[in-house]
Amino acid sequence: MIRFDIRKRDGLARTGILQTDVMSLKLPAALEVETIFPDLETRDGTNLPLCAPPALVRHYPPLNTGQPVSIHPRLDNPAQSGDCVMVAGWHTALSNPRNYVDWLIGLKEKTPIDTAWYAPASGLPSNVHILCYSGFDLFDFRAVDLQTSKMQFCTPEGEFPADAIDGGICTCSGCRNKNLKMHNRQALLCELALVTHFIETSQLRDLVESRCRLNAAQVAILRHLDNHYPFMEQHLPVARRCVMRANSGESLQRAEIRRFAERVITRYLPPKTDVAVLLPCSAKKPYSLSQSHRKFGRVVAGRAHELIVTSPLGLVPRELECIYPAGHYDVPVTGYWDAEECAVISEILTRYFKRHPYRRIIAHLEGGALKVAKLAAENCGITLEYSCEAHPTGEAALNRLDNALAGERRIRDDRLHGMLSFQFGADIETKGIIPRGRFPELFYSRGSVQLFSLDTGTGLIRPTLDGWDLIPAGYRITIDDFVPEGDVLVPGVTGADPAIRDGDEVLVVGARAIATGRAALSAGEMIRSCRGVAVRVRKIKRI
Ligand SMILES: [Zn+2]
Repeated sequence: MIRFDIRKRDGLARTGILQTDVMSLKLPAALEVETIFPDLETRDGTNLPLCAPPALVRHYPPLNTGQPVSIHPRLDNPAQSGDCVMVAGWHTALSNPRNYVDWLIGLKEKTPIDTAWYAPASGLPSNVHILCYSGFDLFDFRAVDLQTSKMQFCTPEGEFPADAIDGGICTCSGCRNKNLKMHNRQALLCELALVTHFIETSQLRDLVESRCRLNAAQVAILRHLDNHYPFMEQHLPVARRCVMRANSGESLQRAEIRRFAERVITRYLPPKTDVAVLLPCSAKKPYSLSQSHRKFGRVVAGRAHELIVTSPLGLVPRELECIYPAGHYDVPVTGYWDAEECAVISEILTRYFKRHPYRRIIAHLEGGALKVAKLAAENCGITLEYSCEAHPTGEAALNRLDNALAGERRIRDDRLHGMLSFQFGADIETKGIIPRGRFPELFYSRGSVQLFSLDTGTGLIRPTLDGWDLIPAGYRITIDDFVPEGDVLVPGVTGADPAIRDGDEVLVVGARAIATGRAALSAGEMIRSCRGVAVRVRKIKRI
């Protein structure tokens, strides 16, 4: 008997508990796998190469007798929810990034998500970050022991000749006793503990971007995975509560960054005005709380739609400044934007302005942001007005901006309408809805009926049951004929809007009850798993 329960997810990575006949194991983990799968040593047919041609695979299929269940890119999935699956030879994929990603996506798409993933003879301190990021959770000591036999000293930064044990790089008990095997095993366990910590804090991507720098193949794997945007996007939460460190070139292609830009362009509905002012970002988030944006706000005074030009997100309309990752990212600020940043971000601005034309666009920008705005204006054939060439917060620039806006009409401040369009893809009538509270802790009601509140952790809008009445369609999960007691579990779900992602606000609809809550899985994942929580319920109403 075996059972795997996922505890915390971060993209494809997970932590969880693997319950076997002999022990309960917290994953990710490395151990002598024979202690939990004793018959694995004597099992035949587990060494079929990943690249074996289809005819050979059909001729020598892996013999699946119990756990772990062998899966192979060329074979149908034999695994079920709760199983531990094994991908033999995965270490060979690590040196072939394109195949690594193609095989991984193929295997992930056909296997239930609530399975533990074992990569035999693969885990090293220098690669478990990317293996866990790819959705592997269980490792053995064979790869590190092989390095020991080759007299190699394993670290997260790579493998060095064994005399490095005397260099003071590590002070573990293995190193103190000049025991290379013990050091190598402990280094693997130590790195897995660190990876687990980053999964638990929802920041594994930040660690992977940092760790992969010393290995070109790992950088390539990360980039190939990002290039499979539809696959990555559906596995990533719609919002997190932590800082997103956008410190590397890869941040620009991170699926969550791209999803934000796509939704700004395709879902978001700007207010009814034909004057826009482009503003620089601020280190403090949300921008409105920074000194510079307080100044901009006083000068603009509602006479233009405020759009913040920033890397790596591209364009953040003022109304969306709290929503993840706009309210959460941190970037190294040098004022210099490289060619790729300029190309990607000017493309976002171009698409936005083609979709939403303005009569006047005032660029209150300098440096890279100004360059990008000029590129976009050229692409769309529009003429920008400039209110500064340097120091956007200087008195001269602020006066020019004030003068440029003289005579323009004040527009209605409707943060809610913009946020609802971005989050639910709907044009919702917000007339008569009044905000209360101190920004960003906002509550929205019509008369005495509370409709929405802003989740200051994620920046998402939380509708009440009355608020859901205003959202015409989408983001619904249908359940069987029962009244949920607490969270809705996967087996109770009968249908889910395909747009739903992990972390989305959803309405649960059943014959006997409706409920508000937050999705714990994407719609696709709910359908491809048999166990676990589907919706963390906030409020239930019997009908
Ligand atoms: Zn050591």
